[in-house]
Amino acid sequence: MTKLGPGEPGSDKSDLRQYVRVSLDLPWNGKIAEVDEQVGRICAGWAQVVALCICAQSMTDGHFSIQMVRRLAGIDEVETKAMVAADLWHEPGHDCDRCPQPRKGMAYVHDYLLHQRSAESIQALSSKRAEVGRKGAESRWGTPAQRAARKATEKAPAKKTGAKAGAQDNPANKPPARPRGTRIPDDFAPTAEMIEWARRNTPHVGVLETQKFVNYWKAKAGKDATKIDWVLTWKNWMITAEQRAGRPAGEAPRSPGAAKAGRALDVAARLDAQDAEQRRAS
Ligand SMILES: [Zn+2]
Repeated sequence: MTKLGPGEPGSDKSDLRQYVRVSLDLPWNGKIAEVDEQVGRICAGWAQVVALCICAQSMTDGHFSIQMVRRLAGIDEVETKAMVAADLWHEPGHDCDRCPQPRKGMAYVHDYLLHQRSAESIQALSSKRAEVGRKGAESRWGTPAQRAARKATEKAPAKKTGAKAGAQDNPANKPPARPRGTRIPDDFAPTAEMIEWARRNTPHVGVLETQKFVNYWKAKAGKDATKIDWVLTWKNWMITAEQRAGRPAGEAPRSPGAAKAGRALDVAARLDAQDAEQRRAS
C-alpha cells in the first residue's frame, strides 16, 4: 500500500466524516439545468447533494424521506415534483427499470448505487478501520488477554482484605445483585436494532461516530472506562453527537424522533449517574 501524502483524500486519519460522490458536471448537468429553468431558480444541484448526504448518512442505499430533503434543501413541492419529473429522483410507482421502488412516502435517487457506497461497503470500511484501531491499541497496550492478566495481577493483593472481598472470592456465593461495569467488549458493533434506532433518533450522525465511540473507550484507562450497559452508553454518545451536529441552540426538536432522542438522553444520563454512584459504592 502506498503512503498518502498530506492533503490527499484519506490522509487525515482524525477526520472521521464520510463523503458522498458528486459528479463534476453537477453545475451544468442537463437534468439539473432543466429543473432550475423550469422552477426559475437555482436549487436542483443543492437538493441533489442534500438527498445524497441523507442517503449516505442513514445508509439507505438510495432511499430517502422526501419531507426531510425538502426541509433541509429548502425546496417546495413544485421544485420537488420537478426533480422527480427530470428523473433525478423516483417516487413510488416509477417506471425506471434500473432502480428499485421506494417505500410509501419515500423517494429514490436515480442510479444511486452506481455512484455511491452501499450500506454494506460503508460497514465493511468501518470494521476495517476498527481492525486497524484494534491492532494499534494492541501494539500499545497488549492483547485483551494480556491486559486481563495484568489487571488480575494488579487486583490480587486487594482481594485478600475485607469481608466484602472475601465474599467475592467464595464461588459458592450468589453473584452480587448489583450489576458490575465491564470494559467495552472487543467486538462491540451496532446490531441491526441499534442501527435502526440510530436511523430514527440520530439521523445526522455518521456511521463512523460508532468507531469514534469504540476507539475512545478502548483507549481510556481506569475504572471510568467500565460501564454497566454499553448499548445505553453508545446511545447516549450518539445523542450527544446528534445534538452537536444538529440544530441551532433554542430551536425546538424537529420531529417526534428528536423529541424521543431527548427523552432517551435523559434516561441515559440517569443511568450514567447510577453507574457512577454504584462505582463509588463498590
Ligand atoms: Zn432510476
